[in-house]
Amino acid sequence: MFVEPEVEKGWIEVICGSMFSGKTEELIRRLRRSKLAHQKVRTFKPAIDVRYDESNVVSHNANSWESIPIKHSSEILNLIGDADVVGIDEAQFFDMELPSICNQLAERKLRVILAGLDMDFKGNPFGPMPALMAMAEYVTKVHAICMKCGNVASYTFKRIRNDQTVELGERDLYEARCRSCFNEGMAMAREQISMDL
Ligand code: ZN
Repeated sequence: MFVEPEVEKGWIEVICGSMFSGKTEELIRRLRRSKLAHQKVRTFKPAIDVRYDESNVVSHNANSWESIPIKHSSEILNLIGDADVVGIDEAQFFDMELPSICNQLAERKLRVILAGLDMDFKGNPFGPMPALMAMAEYVTKVHAICMKCGNVASYTFKRIRNDQTVELGERDLYEARCRSCFNEGMAMAREQISMDL
C-alpha cells in the first residue's frame, strides 16, 4: 500500500496495470487522502473518455471523483489554479507532451498522481505511459485477476478483433488475462484472421 512521503517537494506517482486492476480506485483513494490532509486537489482526464460521466473520473465500481475533461495535456498548466495535488486518469490516452507537463508540475512542487493502462490490447506499451513510468519517483503496478484461469493478470485482452487501439472499455469487450491466457487468445485470434482471409 502506498504511503505518502513526508516531504514538501514535488514528485510524480504512476499507478499502472491492465483493465479491471483497480487503477482508478487507487487514484481516487490517494486523492481522497490528500483532501483529508487539507490539500487542494485538481483532477484531469482526456476529453475522449466519456463512457460514464462527462466530468467525473468514474471507476468500474462506480466510485467517482470530480475531474476536468481536456483535449491536450498543455491545458493542465492553465487550469491547475492553486492546486497542491494534480490527479490525471486514463493517462495512456494523452499526447506525448504529458511527461514534460508532469515534470513542469513536479518542479513547481506539485504532487502529480497519474493512473493509466501500461499496455494496449496488443500487449504493447501504451502512449506516454512508458516515459511517465521512467520519470516518476514512484510507480505502483496493480494487478487484475485473469478472467480465464484466476491467476494474477497484467494484460488486457480484447475479444472482438479490430485495429482501433483507442476504444473505450466495457466489460463485454475486454478481459483481464494472465500472460499465458493472453498469448493463447492472441494465437486464436490470429488463426481466426487467417481463416477469414
Ligand atoms: Zn490466465
